[in-house]
Amino acid sequence: MYDVMSSKAEEFISDEEIQDCLTYAEENKNNRELIDQILTKAREMKGITHREALVLLDCELEDKNQEIYQLAKEIKQEFYGNRIVMFAPLYLSNYCINGCEYCPYHAKNKHIRRKKLSQEEIKAEVIALQDMGHKRLALEAGEDPKNNPIEYILESIKTIYGIHHKNGDIRRVNVNIAATTVEEYRMLKEAGIGTYILFQETYNKESYEKLHPTGPKSDYAYHTEAMDRAMDGGIDDVGLGVLYGLNNYRYDFTGIIMHAEHLEAAKGCGPHTISVPRLRRADDIDPDTFDNGISDDLFAKIVACLRIAVPYTGMIVSTRESKECRERVLELGISQISGGSKTSVGGYVSPEPEEENSAQFDVSDNRTLDEVVKWLMEMDYVPSFCTACYREGRTGDRFMSLLKSKQIVNCCHPNALMTLKEYLEDYASPETKKVGEELIARELEVVTNPKVRQIAKDYIEQIHEGRRDFRF
Ligand code: SF4
Ligand code: SF4
Repeated sequence: MYDVMSSKAEEFISDEEIQDCLTYAEENKNNRELIDQILTKAREMKGITHREALVLLDCELEDKNQEIYQLAKEIKQEFYGNRIVMFAPLYLSNYCINGCEYCPYHAKNKHIRRKKLSQEEIKAEVIALQDMGHKRLALEAGEDPKNNPIEYILESIKTIYGIHHKNGDIRRVNVNIAATTVEEYRMLKEAGIGTYILFQETYNKESYEKLHPTGPKSDYAYHTEAMDRAMDGGIDDVGLGVLYGLNNYRYDFTGIIMHAEHLEAAKGCGPHTISVPRLRRADDIDPDTFDNGISDDLFAKIVACLRIAVPYTGMIVSTRESKECRERVLELGISQISGGSKTSVGGYVSPEPEEENSAQFDVSDNRTLDEVVKWLMEMDYVPSFCTACYREGRTGDRFMSLLKSKQIVNCCHPNALMTLKEYLEDYASPETKKVGEELIARELEVVTNPKVRQIAKDYIEQIHEGRRDFRF
């Protein structure tokens, strides 16, 4: 039975409720009156239910679809303005004992090169990332209690926070590791992680079990209930995601919103982020063997409908997506993107030859961080390297209430400009710097509070003179 408050996966992600929603949306997808009612509610920018969101996703009425896209853009603008937060993944180890059928790191793949970074190698990778200008990382590691125990992850986090190369430092380490115990989540919290990220892959239990035939990850309930345990262990910010292409997208779209509703209802705080990865080609993985692929148009609609359903949740798109596709979804709701990413272990220091491919997926957007930053600014976005909230203790429900009251915008915009200024001073090419300086001058004038504007100007001047790390 469906129960949003239940701690059991099969009750808060009830298959019966999802099946019922799928039928309901199919029957109502062109019900103009209902769609208007949902859109009226959505315009309050406080979110809509999973059932309502699926009706919008299924809607085939052209004029209503245009309204959906328009509303998604307005919500994006209202909560996130033109800022885009930048991050990079850092692969620590591709040893893994799981059997995930869609991932090249699955245990049965015997020809992929296995590698685990030593602490010295992590240092070198982090220096390479700092030299690009990154301040925010997402750590990635396969599940392998012998090779990648929690002690290894904790030591790696400590190493990363301890590296200060030239003006560089990593100010927020997000972590994407396998579902674990409350105890180990507590250790991660104590190590100072930002967001704990764990993708569900699919919410459909039957598909999930087929896709995960072996290894600890095959336990659907343990995996699906991981975010509850993470929050019980004190982690405030959690990041959800499904891998589009594995299972029916309507099912997983509904499931992820139900998961967000569950965390909000049962734990008092919804997810910090939702990622929208799509299945990509990789060693030993051919996306054509999964017949649930989604088109770019559908992908854009999913992003727009998620933006409307969960206005307070950051949304992430990675370099799995091409420049063109990223351009399209940025305006519909994406608030965070990766840039200059390497998806192989040790890839920032030694990009590997093609025949040795140990990457988790093929990257579609191969541009450098400098190129991505320049591209964003030329479209009038402000690339942001801000990590202020986490460092000021603005996490979890405290962060959410600031976001809901839209007060956080007073911090985000000047913080974005100041961290961009640091990037321009320390890492940008002359062409990027020129575009960026003009953008900062224009954007400073848009800061509405005169006092904040003046302080931001002063700080930016001091950054030019060599000082670093100001924040609101
Ligand atoms: Fe291992 Fe994660 Fe890949 Fe599964 S998806 S094989 S758990 S690294
Ligand atoms: Fe994110 Fe907080 Fe910085 Fe805004 S001020 S960009 S919410 S870290």
